[in-house]
Amino acid sequence: MRRRSEASSLLRQTDLPPGLPFIDGAFRPGSSSQAINVIDPCTERVIAQIAEGTVEDTDVAVAAAVKAAPGWAALTPKERSETLHRIADRVSENSELLARLESANTGKPGMVAEDDVAQTVDTFRFMAGALRATTSAAAGRYAADHLSTILREPLGVVGVVTPWNYPLLMAAWKIAPILAAGNTLVIKPSEQTPLTTLKFAELVADLLPPGVLNVVPGYGPTVGTRLAEHPDVAMIALTGSVRSGKAVAQAAAATLKRVHLELGGKAPVVIFPDADLDSAATALRTAGFWNSGQECGAGCRVLVHADVAERFTALLVEQVSTLVVGEPGTGDDVELGPLISKAHFDRVTGYLERAQAAGVRAALGGSALAGNGYFVAPTVLVDVPEGAECAQEEIFGPVITVETFTDEAEAIARANAVPYGLSASVWTDDARRSHDVAARLDAGTVWVNAHLVLANEVPWGGFKGSGYGRDLSIYALDDYSRTKHVMHHVGR
Ligand code: NAD
Repeated sequence: MRRRSEASSLLRQTDLPPGLPFIDGAFRPGSSSQAINVIDPCTERVIAQIAEGTVEDTDVAVAAAVKAAPGWAALTPKERSETLHRIADRVSENSELLARLESANTGKPGMVAEDDVAQTVDTFRFMAGALRATTSAAAGRYAADHLSTILREPLGVVGVVTPWNYPLLMAAWKIAPILAAGNTLVIKPSEQTPLTTLKFAELVADLLPPGVLNVVPGYGPTVGTRLAEHPDVAMIALTGSVRSGKAVAQAAAATLKRVHLELGGKAPVVIFPDADLDSAATALRTAGFWNSGQECGAGCRVLVHADVAERFTALLVEQVSTLVVGEPGTGDDVELGPLISKAHFDRVTGYLERAQAAGVRAALGGSALAGNGYFVAPTVLVDVPEGAECAQEEIFGPVITVETFTDEAEAIARANAVPYGLSASVWTDDARRSHDVAARLDAGTVWVNAHLVLANEVPWGGFKGSGYGRDLSIYALDDYSRTKHVMHHVGR
């Protein structure tokens, strides 16, 4: 495993954003003197301190967003689009800094952080274009003597809560369509990874009118809950765990605000005997381990036909054993970093210990890596019985489980037998089978002979316990706006 030398650091003090709430166009002291330590998961050292946002700070930020809403909504699509393009340019010009900051906070390898920033730029560019080309039912006479027009309106102020796994990118997936649709927002980044969201606010501060984008760092049960409860917030959008999703949905119920939830996943990878096993194993090397497996769409639950299980498992182990693990800044070829925190490390290693105690075998890895930081070895678990905990619950680490099946109906039933429904893949060269099985898999995204390939033009979001609402694409623009029908009596 690659380690940085004692002296080398990814960060200079001047790279850091002010550790304060960003409200009404400027960083402002919050109402609390408490701070949250931001930890480098490679070294377990504190790299920054950020003010702990409060209910009062949240209320001030919402008031700023309310004040800014009519002006932002009144801009023409062209004007909003130009601002979003300028934001994309600004992020692009600061790619290296943002990627470094993200790596320092999360331990992400450079290649992952750079991809996050590139995708952030593309998200703003896509939404800048899409907002100028919205579609809906044509104006027309749908009742005798009445002319109908359908308007798309912004919702108003949107509250946003984001997770730690892709801090900047998940913020962009919300901020871009929310602004594109003409809303203003208050965003709370994860308390573990606030740096790039605050840096983003600093970088684009001169591009947006004050109050259009506000950032309140802090904990979920205070800032997140207040956003979900606040009577002046029209929608709460959260990417995170099922538990947090349920909490915000409950808090939002009292004001009947809209709720948009991108939650966890446990993606099945269903491999039939006619599949190209080499390409499946190669694809899972990335799809199961990108971002250290801390990925809601990770291909982490293989269901492979018994006839090819041995051959496929050998290919998978061979592929996964070549992953380069290390700290960011120790080479462009590092592919896998640490887990985000001590608590998450304990959670993931707990799953590994319980699985092995129950008779599941680690064909590769299976435990933590020695030394500082929250590193876990890339792991392939085999001899996994139906219903095993490790194949049912979201581990969210560098772990793939391999189960076998003998019959198609059984494979589909087992693939669907988890509370999640975010994504899935099916591997077969039989086109009739791939269409049919894809239709029967209960997931918001199904790949055929691929896994974890995303694009801004296509929607992302789940079924069942993975939540509702869609990120990316014109579907996100729809989610962040409301439909108004205006009917004119035109009879004479
Ligand atoms: P988490 O739920 O612990 O935290 C997510 C955010 O919710 C954080 O900002 C946190 O402070 C906040 N939060 C926590 N409790 C809250 C409460 N009671 N009210 C309001 N906000 C609250 O999730 P995490 O550990 O940061 O992220 C990992 C999870 O996110 C995984 O389950 C993963 O699958 C999911 N995720 C989903 C997607 C997707 O697109 N579906 C993308 C990335 C991550």
